[in-house]
Amino acid sequence: MSKQETFPTPFLSRKDGVLHLDGVNLEQLVQQHGTPLYVYSAGHIRDAFSQYLDAVKGLDATICYAVKANSNLSLLRLLADMGAGFDIVSAGELARALEAGGKPEKIVFSGVGKSTAELEMALDAGVGCFNIESPAELERLAAVAQRKGKVANISLRVNPDVDAKTHPYISTGLKENKFGVAMDQALATYQRAAVLPGIRIVGVDCHIGSQITQAQPYADALDRVLALVDLLHDHGITLHHLDLGGGLGICYKDETPPSPQTVIGELAAKVRAWADKNRRDMPKLMFEPGRSIVGNCGVLLTSVEYLKHSEDKDFAIVDAAMNDLMRPAMYESYHGMTLVRSADAAHQKDATHGAHNASHSSKTSSTYDVVGPVCETGDWLGRKRHLTLGEGDVIAILSAGAYGMSMASNYNTRPRAAEILADAGRARVVRRRETLTDLLGPERV
Ligand SMILES: *Cc1c(COP(=O)(O)O)cnc(C)c1O
Repeated sequence: MSKQETFPTPFLSRKDGVLHLDGVNLEQLVQQHGTPLYVYSAGHIRDAFSQYLDAVKGLDATICYAVKANSNLSLLRLLADMGAGFDIVSAGELARALEAGGKPEKIVFSGVGKSTAELEMALDAGVGCFNIESPAELERLAAVAQRKGKVANISLRVNPDVDAKTHPYISTGLKENKFGVAMDQALATYQRAAVLPGIRIVGVDCHIGSQITQAQPYADALDRVLALVDLLHDHGITLHHLDLGGGLGICYKDETPPSPQTVIGELAAKVRAWADKNRRDMPKLMFEPGRSIVGNCGVLLTSVEYLKHSEDKDFAIVDAAMNDLMRPAMYESYHGMTLVRSADAAHQKDATHGAHNASHSSKTSSTYDVVGPVCETGDWLGRKRHLTLGEGDVIAILSAGAYGMSMASNYNTRPRAAEILADAGRARVVRRRETLTDLLGPERV
């Protein structure tokens, strides 16, 4: 190969021209399991989570993995075994976290629209904290808790009104977003919580957005949260923990986000200085990372069905689509792409074995728009990609571990992909491919 290829995780490598993830030959996986296929690296997840553990060493802190980023049970089990708590946003995610062995007291329940049934289920499970997102939700939770004779731990999700400098659809900490309670409503909401039976105030929470690539927005949000903690203190309300949310970005293309150690180190130093100055105890710290733990652990493997050349565009039509990976259609996001068998290696193989394999003959180098079979113009996975392709070639779509499978749907009645967990050369199916029976089963003619 002329130019050294770079990958977004050290767990991706090329051996004899064939892409491997966590020691597993991806070409062989495709032969066994077909495409589209999600493959995750256990080693990458362990390393990414360990970075968070290192970052909070010596602090009273919990890392609550945000389940919605990738909710496969065996990923959750891997993280629970490493001591992760979980940030959940639905009863379904609660069921997953518990099934995976998550400790209820390390679960925080976020989300703007928790239903009565979900509040009940979470109270019964004994989740550690409800991150309350509106005064109305606070009243509902208090009523549910009283009816059950229980006490719910709460923190208020406040909206610090900082710009996370990310895509508008994944920015959550601005005043105009639907999330959390505005800072100027926070004191009144806490005062109400303080007198509501069935409610115990334990902390404050904020989460300003996703794919954040700078430390500054976190520091700005923390300043505002600490000002609120002071205000609450003056009104006799003491908080035990600060939950600073998730949102740390990853490298998809050329982003250079700070490490968890850098961000958490800065935040913890700020909190410590504040505690010393005000002669307060250092509060417990919580973080809710999702993408930064799993985003670069995974690839989505997809086969080229057809190449279609028109006057002003060349299309590679592949067997994965927006229902498998929604991020490009939804946020115009970029995912790196590379061939599972590099074009050079495929060429050599043809030369040595004769061009017996139709999939490796007649390759065309071009600038392709890589699109899926779904009947939507928005169904694209990559634009203007320089690739040398033939029918049947397998493309690895990189950085697909977060908000890939967890956002997948059955649109166009397409069964969802299988998921594989690779771990030091071994591969395990952690979700079998859906069948048409799975899809049609719940319906009645
Ligand atoms: C989505 C979400 C997270 C995780 O965000 P990432 O960008 O994946 O780290 C954390 N907390 C809350 C409340 C969320 O909604």
